[in-house]
Amino acid sequence: IFSGEATFMLGAVNMAGLPPADLGEFAFAGRSNVGKSSLLNALMNRKGLARTSNTPGRTQEVNFFDIGGEFRLVDLPGYGYARASRSKVDAWTQLIFDYLRGRPNLLRVFVLIDSRHGIKPVDEEGMALLDEAAVSYQIVLTKLDKIKETKAAFRINEVTEQLAKRPAAHPRVLATSSEKGIGIKEVRGEMLEAL
Ligand code: GDP
Repeated sequence: IFSGEATFMLGAVNMAGLPPADLGEFAFAGRSNVGKSSLLNALMNRKGLARTSNTPGRTQEVNFFDIGGEFRLVDLPGYGYARASRSKVDAWTQLIFDYLRGRPNLLRVFVLIDSRHGIKPVDEEGMALLDEAAVSYQIVLTKLDKIKETKAAFRINEVTEQLAKRPAAHPRVLATSSEKGIGIKEVRGEMLEAL
């Protein structure tokens, strides 16, 4: 279902621009540069479909990808980009907030966390928003290849403990490397299970 059938649908800048809520959606959120585009490309098996970028924070659209006409992956703009202007930050907050609160077909949000850095205050803010909106979300650690195995085990435990107090968080922490193809099957599996 994931191979060769992923297509870019559209980029929305406001609620009016969203596609109809007629298919299940999985959204991807995370700090700029966390590896979101790389993970989306790995999941869709399409290099370059989700743009990888060296200018974090550039994309301010919510991008929709159709997966074989069966469901959608939704690329939310990266958050926590220090150089984004105040007005841009507000626009981000508003669109994401509206999308997260008002999307009945949103099945889960994958919140990406850099394995090296763990959960930062800006991630906490995002998760608090999801808890408040009662939107089910799951943590995906990225760039696992950048840390040693012992550190990876520590990080997974640490994050799992931090999630215990969060009502809308899925208890299972996924660990991935888009570069090495680690954990990609598991993320796909979570989606297929949720469908
Ligand atoms: P985004 O801003 O969240 O979309 O992040 P990108 O996917 O553009 O990745 C940001 C940077 O991290 C790029 O230089 C990627 O090559 C790098 N990167 C992404 N995923 C991985 C990974 O799994 N392993 C390694 N080593 N680097 C990665």
